Amino acid sequence: MTASAMTFPAPDRRALSDFRALAGRIDGNGPRYTSYPTADRFRNDPDLSLYHDALADSRADVPAPLSLYLHIPFCENICYYCGCNKIITRDHGRSARYVSYLGREMALVADRLGTRREVIQSHWGGGTPTFLDPDEMRRVMALLNEHFALTADGEHSIEIDPRRVDHARMALLAELGFNRVSLGVQDFDAEVQQAIHRIQPFDETRAVVDAARALGFRSVSLDLIYGLPHQTAARFGRTIGQVLALRPDRLSVYSYAHLPHVFKPQRRIDENALPPAGEKLDILVSTIERLTAEGYVYIGMDHFALPGDDLAVAQREGRLQRNFQGYSTHAGYDQVGLGISAIGAIAGRYVQNARTLDDYYGALDQGRLPLARGVAMNTDDHLRREIIGDLMCNGILDLPAIEARHGIDFSRAFSAELADLGRLSEDGLVQCEPGRITVTPLGRLLVRRVAMVFDRYLREDAARRADNGAQAANDGAQPIRIVPRYSRVV
Ligand code: SF4
Repeated sequence: MTASAMTFPAPDRRALSDFRALAGRIDGNGPRYTSYPTADRFRNDPDLSLYHDALADSRADVPAPLSLYLHIPFCENICYYCGCNKIITRDHGRSARYVSYLGREMALVADRLGTRREVIQSHWGGGTPTFLDPDEMRRVMALLNEHFALTADGEHSIEIDPRRVDHARMALLAELGFNRVSLGVQDFDAEVQQAIHRIQPFDETRAVVDAARALGFRSVSLDLIYGLPHQTAARFGRTIGQVLALRPDRLSVYSYAHLPHVFKPQRRIDENALPPAGEKLDILVSTIERLTAEGYVYIGMDHFALPGDDLAVAQREGRLQRNFQGYSTHAGYDQVGLGISAIGAIAGRYVQNARTLDDYYGALDQGRLPLARGVAMNTDDHLRREIIGDLMCNGILDLPAIEARHGIDFSRAFSAELADLGRLSEDGLVQCEPGRITVTPLGRLLVRRVAMVFDRYLREDAARRADNGAQAANDGAQPIRIVPRYSRVV
């Protein structure tokens, strides 16, 4: 535990007002850094040995526990804003086949890991995991327990669509060992729900939250989205009021990124109904003000938690980390991903499964792991991942400690980055002192911008763009415009 982590200051009224003033000049968008290198840097069609080596090296770490992510891609209805990898179907026969292939994948992974490895944290995401019927859920959990050892006191969470579960299903989740639930809400406003094709009355959600509390789930988390059609600060404020009445332990408030050329369902969203940039900013600022005034801790980026929640405790104690679920208390472990498009982070490699059912089933039919993309981290990636993690989770870089751990001279290794930080310091995002760099309360609201300074791949992109621009200018042509790879909010 570090004193600096304990004092990571929350955005106050002044920071929020400076944020509003800066928003036109500094773009706060950027990678979410749930991994570094970010997923758009993974290589397509890597050699399968990448995955095999990762599992073999992880095996050498026995008995280190694992974190596990399992992807269930099916949904019955489309939500127009959705950017997830999902399959819309009402044919529940499709999930039975998927479950059997999940079993094959688990067997292959567990075989290469060599032992029935302990799983300290698991998360079922989607899609809609509760698309599976009760018997299928039991089957998946039995398969998991056959190939891995899920610890009873670990964190075991599942994403829930409140429109698809009742008390009996919640009781089943508790019986299966889940102790955390995450509920998709987005907005309770009827007109917004209509516009995004997700009708979900407040009472329906409240019934699920009440059931989770009655059944003793340790943590209830709600997901909201701002920037959706017809939203205003006043209307979203009413949704926040309803959310506060439910008093979730954690809250995620994501920014909607309208990219209909990337995500087809978004073409059905009326662009004229989207809130203008200034209104969207008002929604965010008023939401942060209200939630922090009501006792929620601003964890960072889009996340809030009650002070007693494990996430807030982990941040106070300097243990917070980032993984593919966002902020996490258990991100230091190797993470195995199961199911289509699932990402694993194993022994210094990132691996991502095939995105389509055909490719996923095809690989498993041939008895091989369904690897589609991946990357092996180099020494520089490890160093930068640690720096970016420290900035995003604890808001501080202890330079002598980093130098000692990595055998570097920080000011030499990062001279260009320090020059860029100097500019962010003039804008009040960071404070640079001898031996330490601190993210200010204002900087917390733009922490991606601070983290991007240390992203070597973005720096190389920028250098290439500058070269291309200079070359084009010499040729008398227009500079080439490159669309940022990170424009999608993921
Ligand atoms: S938002 Fe969730 S429930 Fe809606 S289509 Fe996407 S994955 Fe399915």
